[in-house]
Amino acid sequence: MRLGGILFDLDGTLFAREAAFWSWLLEEAAERSLDWAQIAELDARGHGPKAPLLDQLALALDWPERALEARLQRLRLGILRHARPDPRLHALLARLRRSYRLGVVTNGSTQSQRGKLRELGIEQYFDPIVVSEEVAHRKPEFAIFRLALRSWALPHGEVLFVGDDGLKDIGGARAAGLQALQVLREPVETLEPEPVRDLLAARQAEDGTASIESLWQIESWLGDHAGEHSVI
Ligand SMILES: [Mg+2]
Repeated sequence: MRLGGILFDLDGTLFAREAAFWSWLLEEAAERSLDWAQIAELDARGHGPKAPLLDQLALALDWPERALEARLQRLRLGILRHARPDPRLHALLARLRRSYRLGVVTNGSTQSQRGKLRELGIEQYFDPIVVSEEVAHRKPEFAIFRLALRSWALPHGEVLFVGDDGLKDIGGARAAGLQALQVLREPVETLEPEPVRDLLAARQAEDGTASIESLWQIESWLGDHAGEHSVI
């Protein structure tokens, strides 16, 4: 496989969103025990509708915020505060960048998604960074992949999309003619409460999709599949 560029999903792929969410929530809860399983279900790895989750948290934790937007801010800033820069991630991206163009395509708000890249200190490795809120398209729409590739002048087939979500990342990327590689776990272990451990178990790979356990296996996968001679 000839490969010139790699586009990454953010949450669950480059950014350990579950690790940040649960570490923030445990801090919020302090010694209180919450209905962790229900929270995990409502949150759905960040994909659940926000209002029921925030209502539940505000009630259980006696938040002073009444408005949905204020509660959402509390959640977003909490997750950002628990984003942990990882020297291994810098080293990995710096190495990949020597052989490939790197970009990010992420669904979410500008504040959250650019904030995560900033907290991780990894913005400089990616061009472009495409955030759904800014372009009015979301994965798995074809348009967001096309936008991301506009400046690369690479055939879609020579670009690899790396993401964790079977539908939005893998399905979307394939439909756009990209290669796809699914990551089954976040790059950092989550210290979640015991009752939700099973709910957050590793994903199963989509049928017929190449997968790696986590981001840390990408170089060995590329070594096996993309050959030594990549094109920039
Ligand atoms: Mg993701």
